Amino acid sequence: MLQKTLIVLKPDAVKRNIVGELISRFEKVGLHLQAMKMIQPTEEHLYDHYETIGQLASRRGEEILKINTDFMRSGPVIAMVREGVEAIEVVRKMVGSTEPKSALPGTIRGDYSHLSFGYTDKNNAWLTNLVHASATPEEAEKEVSLWFAQAEIYDHEMEAHQFKRGHKKSH
Ligand code: GDP
Ligand code: MG
Repeated sequence: MLQKTLIVLKPDAVKRNIVGELISRFEKVGLHLQAMKMIQPTEEHLYDHYETIGQLASRRGEEILKINTDFMRSGPVIAMVREGVEAIEVVRKMVGSTEPKSALPGTIRGDYSHLSFGYTDKNNAWLTNLVHASATPEEAEKEVSLWFAQAEIYDHEMEAHQFKRGHKKSH
């Protein structure tokens, strides 16, 4: 099934100048770009993103919500909508698990970061894990419409027929 998913390159990815490298990973697997912008999200926007939609405080505690909101306000981010077959799961697989220390090599978090929950908690540090990606179809639908107006999404069709058996290139 074709799905749209929200990807946000966090302030640490922008500051480290690896935006192009990270975007190219999503391009290489064939995920189709439908929207992209650089923004500095407001506190209210992040509350909607992480709590109203993501329920971060109820899952991880108020403190984590606050720390993470501060981190996400520490600089501009790049937000994207990409479409692909089972794109939500595919992008989560590419991003890797939340804690960089546990994220497997080959994933973005595993390849570009290494901090642990324990270290960041003890040392008053941000969990710089580079990327946000929608976790479920419900989350994806809500997040895409929180971050992008309908007019900003170029819903040009992914050439799904390119996967179909018997398809011949016309050029
Ligand atoms: P994700 O879907 O893998 O990003 O993880 P969650 O939805 O559970 O959490 C959202 C974000 O909150 C994570 O990407 C982290 O940036 C942050 N976060 C979650 N759990 C912790 C934690 O225990 N400590 C810290 N410092 N940040 C956390
Ligand atoms: Mg999440």
